[in-house]
Amino acid sequence: MRVVFPYLTHQRLIILLISVTLLSLSPMELQITRKTEVVIYVEKKLETYFIIAIFVSSTWIWNARLKIPYQSLFQISRMFHQKCARLPRVIHVNHHDHRVSYKYPLGPGEWRCGVCWEEIDWSYGAYSCSLCPNYAIHSLCATRKDVWDGKELDGVPEEVEDIEPFKRNDDNTITHFAHEHNLSLHNDDEESSLCGACVHPIGSYTFYKCSKSYCGFFLHERCANLATKKRHFLSPQPLDLSLQWIPYVLGRCRACRQMFSEGFIYNSYRDKFDLLCSSITVPFIHGSHDHHLLYYKLRYGQVKTCQNCGIDETEVLGCSKCNYYLDFCCATLPKTVMLPRYDDHPLTLCYGDENASGKYWCDICERETNPKTWFYTCKDCGVTFHILCVVGDIRYAKPGGKINGDYELLANNSSSRPLCSTCHCRCPGPFILNKERNNIFFCSYYCLGLSREHAYSSVDVCPPWAI
Ligand SMILES: [Zn+2]
Ligand SMILES: [Zn+2]
Ligand SMILES: [Zn+2]
Ligand SMILES: [Zn+2]
Ligand SMILES: [Zn+2]
Ligand SMILES: [Zn+2]
Ligand SMILES: [Zn+2]
Ligand SMILES: [Zn+2]
Repeated sequence: MRVVFPYLTHQRLIILLISVTLLSLSPMELQITRKTEVVIYVEKKLETYFIIAIFVSSTWIWNARLKIPYQSLFQISRMFHQKCARLPRVIHVNHHDHRVSYKYPLGPGEWRCGVCWEEIDWSYGAYSCSLCPNYAIHSLCATRKDVWDGKELDGVPEEVEDIEPFKRNDDNTITHFAHEHNLSLHNDDEESSLCGACVHPIGSYTFYKCSKSYCGFFLHERCANLATKKRHFLSPQPLDLSLQWIPYVLGRCRACRQMFSEGFIYNSYRDKFDLLCSSITVPFIHGSHDHHLLYYKLRYGQVKTCQNCGIDETEVLGCSKCNYYLDFCCATLPKTVMLPRYDDHPLTLCYGDENASGKYWCDICERETNPKTWFYTCKDCGVTFHILCVVGDIRYAKPGGKINGDYELLANNSSSRPLCSTCHCRCPGPFILNKERNNIFFCSYYCLGLSREHAYSSVDVCPPWAI
């Protein structure tokens, strides 16, 4: 076993040595680097501990047997925090792009932890980045299971990761990993075409277009530039960019729990995240709260309630001082949405008013909206809309997209909106689900799910997901 401790007084060195010996109860070798390398051998015989040799810079400076009484060994070892002695020296955490290394003491300065955003006492040990002079993390925050992948990188050479998503062929054309044909750069009129990555309209942004006209594949320039690998607080393992395309494989974002059709996702070997959730950085500024929000992954059995939708979640963004929490679904709602079928102006997200009174109605489903919770509104026309009537509950939705293989997404834009097979209301959302082009429609993934759980389910509230 090898323990490296970068800064030690002679006294602490001895304490460290003794405490580690006590823990492992076997002869061992300790290598401790300060400015000189110190190697100490300890042996245990019949409950008695002996320092048998000390090397400093490979020179043998101790060759007697030094007896350490068990009682003092026990007392001294308690003085030394056992966890600290085992801290890894160099690690890669998911909150930062570069490796961080343990430094004791951290050194004078005003430090704020990059994970919990609380102050760090510089006289203690902490992790810092050699490239970013102001970046540091508490040692307990850096070694949390949801922050660190458990790999010690001391002595492991740093590889330059290839995160380029495309090969540039000339000034104007690229070969992107997500598409088989070359793409070329444009800024002409393709406003309503959908980007193959974020599945939003191209709008007025610069974009790449497939060179084969029959293909109809587009990417926003900024979406084409998304790195193929990144670190994110949602996963201790690095995430890979890929195209969600296998129609029979369930596509669901672990953070917001929403289903998605085809588009770019970031995934680890076990989890998938849509581009909205995986683009959040902390501290997160959200229009609904005055203070920044941090990421909380709660212990087993604990939950926090989303301030908007009231759903209990184990992963939230929140301000613990104010007990204000949002789930990822609500935290990533778009601030403005265009819904030309109902209003000519952009609709804006309103965060509700505790003191609001009076009755408001959703212009889409014609049911009451609750002015104390979030809703979309058009300030010019004074109309209100339920959140889910505006955005639906499926991400990356596009006409012709598939969910669970045999359910096709259709734009809900015919003059008479179909009735949902589960809730029997006129489907309010922007998309409806249709099974194999027969006449069975669902207004939402929510209602599709209900119909599968109970074959003849029927709910009275209409639409049940927009309360
Ligand atoms: Zn911290
Ligand atoms: Zn850095
Ligand atoms: Zn895009
Ligand atoms: Zn998500
Ligand atoms: Zn919510
Ligand atoms: Zn707050
Ligand atoms: Zn509505
Ligand atoms: Zn329904």
